[in-house]
Amino acid sequence: MDNFIVSARKYRPATFQQVVGQTAITATLQNAIRNNHLAQAFLFTGPRGVGKTTCARILAKTINCENLKETIEPCDACESCESFNNSASFNVHELDAASNNSVDDIRTLVDQVRIPPQVGKFKVYIIDEVHMLSQAAFNAFLKTLEEPPAYAKFILATTEKHKILPTILSRCQLYDFKRIQVEDISKHLAYVAENEGVAAEEEALHTIAQKSDGALRDALSTFDQIVSYSGDSITYKNVIENLNILDYEYYFQVTDFIADADLSQLLLIFSEIIENGFDGQHFITGLNEHLRNLMVIQDPATLQLLLASPSVKERYREQSARFSIPFLIQAMEVCNKYDLSYKTSNNKRLHIEIALMQLAKIGNSDIQQTTQPIAKPKPREDKKPFYVSSEPKESKPEPKTTDTPKDAETKNESFNKPLAEPKESIAKPKPPGPKPQIDPSPKEEGNGRKIKNISIKASLNALKKKQEEVEDDDVPAITTAFDQEKLNDTWVQFTNSYQKDSPSFSHAIAKHMPVLKEGFVIEYQVDNILIAKDILNVTALLEYLKDELNNNQITLKAVVADNKKEKIAYTDREKFEEMAKKYPGIIALKDQMNLELEF
Ligand SMILES: [Zn+2]
Repeated sequence: MDNFIVSARKYRPATFQQVVGQTAITATLQNAIRNNHLAQAFLFTGPRGVGKTTCARILAKTINCENLKETIEPCDACESCESFNNSASFNVHELDAASNNSVDDIRTLVDQVRIPPQVGKFKVYIIDEVHMLSQAAFNAFLKTLEEPPAYAKFILATTEKHKILPTILSRCQLYDFKRIQVEDISKHLAYVAENEGVAAEEEALHTIAQKSDGALRDALSTFDQIVSYSGDSITYKNVIENLNILDYEYYFQVTDFIADADLSQLLLIFSEIIENGFDGQHFITGLNEHLRNLMVIQDPATLQLLLASPSVKERYREQSARFSIPFLIQAMEVCNKYDLSYKTSNNKRLHIEIALMQLAKIGNSDIQQTTQPIAKPKPREDKKPFYVSSEPKESKPEPKTTDTPKDAETKNESFNKPLAEPKESIAKPKPPGPKPQIDPSPKEEGNGRKIKNISIKASLNALKKKQEEVEDDDVPAITTAFDQEKLNDTWVQFTNSYQKDSPSFSHAIAKHMPVLKEGFVIEYQVDNILIAKDILNVTALLEYLKDELNNNQITLKAVVADNKKEKIAYTDREKFEEMAKKYPGIIALKDQMNLELEF
C-alpha cells in the first residue's frame, strides 16, 4: 500500500459522462455549452458528496478545452486539459468559504478576477460552502458578481441554499443536485471494486450504498475502510460488522415470530440483539422499516420504493405473503409509538419488550385468524366461522361454495399463479398443537421460515383445492333472494362482529354501504384498492354473506371510491335543480306562475 489513493479521489470523474447519478444536470450544462448560453454565475446546491465540486471542475475544464469533442466532453489531451488533470491550471481558482470567509479572502479573489487569463478562454472561480461567507464578505463579492468580466465564470456551491442571500440567488443560474440513487451508487462501487481487483458481494455493496444516504463520496470512503479491514474480498458480514448495522436476518426472524405470535422467541432474539451491542431504538426503527418494506412489496406500484438487492427483495416477497396490509399498518403503528416514546422511558429494554408483546398480540389476533384457519383450525366457541370451513363436508347439511371473488380487482395473484413446488400443493391441515420449534439463532438462515411459510401457502392451497373440489362436485346453486335492506343489515352485522378479527378491515368496509346489483353481485366501495386485495379478509366477508343470506351465487365487486367526485352545483340550472330537490315547492311555484327557466 505504498501509493494508496483514496477511491473518492482516484475515481473522481474527469468528464461529464463519468459523473454518477446526475444526468439531468450534466445534460443541461452540456447543452448550455453547446448553445453558447452559459451563464456567468452558477449556484450548485444539494447535499454533501453528490458531485457539486466535481461538476464545477469538469465544467471549468470543458469550457477551457482547446479541442472540445462533439459530445461536449473535454479532450483530456490538450494543454489546458492536462494542466487541469494535474491540478496545475491557472484558470481555475477554488476557495473554500468554510475556512476562508473573511472580507480579505474575498478581496484577494476579486483582485484576481481583474486579471484576464493568459492561456485558455475562461477563468473559473469555484467557491465552496458559499453560505459560510460573512455578511461583509458577501457584500464585497456582490459587486463583482453583478458586473463580472466576460472571461470570468463563478460557480458557487452550497449544501444550504436557504442561507444564500436573495441578491446572490437572483444573479445565479440554479442547479439542484439530488441525492444519488442507491442503485447508481452500488453500480459505481461495483465498477471501482472490479478495477481494484476486489471481489465484493452485491449485498455488501448495496448495504454500503444504502448507508451512504445518497452521497457517493461517503460510499467510496466506507468502501476503502472496509477494503483496508477485510482485504480483497468484501462480504455482507464484513460490511455489517464494520458499519455496526443490525443484520437483516434478525428482522426476518423477528417478523416471523410476530406472525406466529411467539412471544418467548421474540424476547429471546431481542435479548441476543441487545447482547450484541445494539440499542433498542435502533432495533425498533429497523423493525419498522422492515415492516414497511413488507408492505411496499405487496403492490407492484410501490415496489420501486423498496431499496434492496434482488435476492433480498425475493426474501421480502416471500415473507410478505404472511401478512395482510392492515396487519402491517397496525404493527407499524405499534413500532412508531414505542420509537417515539423510547427516549423518555426509564427502562428501555422493558419498553421494547412491551412493544414486542403488543406486536405478538396483533400477530395473535390478526394473522392467526386471517391466514391460518384452514391450515390450523382454531376452535372458536361462540362464533360462526367466517372463513372457508375446515370442517368435514358432511357436517354441513347445506352445500357450500368457496368461490373466491370473481372480480379482477378482488382477485389475489396467488390464486392464479401456478405453484412452484408441487409438493406443497397438497395442503396438510396441521393439528392444533405445539408449533414446530424454530431455532432462534439468526446464523442459521431461513430453515424455520420455510417451515412456517407453508402455513400461508397451505391456507391458500387449501382454499384453492376446496374450490376445485366444489367445482368438481357440481354443487347446486342456492339463490335465495334478498333485498338491499337485508344486505345492509347483514353487512353491518359482519362489520360489527369482525371488529375483533381485523379492526382495520371492518372499519374500512363499514365506511360505505354496499349496493346490490343484478345477478347477486354486491358492489362495495373501498377507499383503497389494497383493502379489496386483502384476499383473506375479503373471502371471510364473502363467506359470511353467502351463509347469512343463504345464497352461494353471491360475488363481490370492489369499487375504489373517488373522493373528489362529490358533485358541486356550478351552473344556475344545477343550482336550481339542487334547490328543487330540497324544496319541491319551488317547481310548483314555477309552474303556478308560468315561469320559464332561462338557463
Ligand atoms: Zn482538452
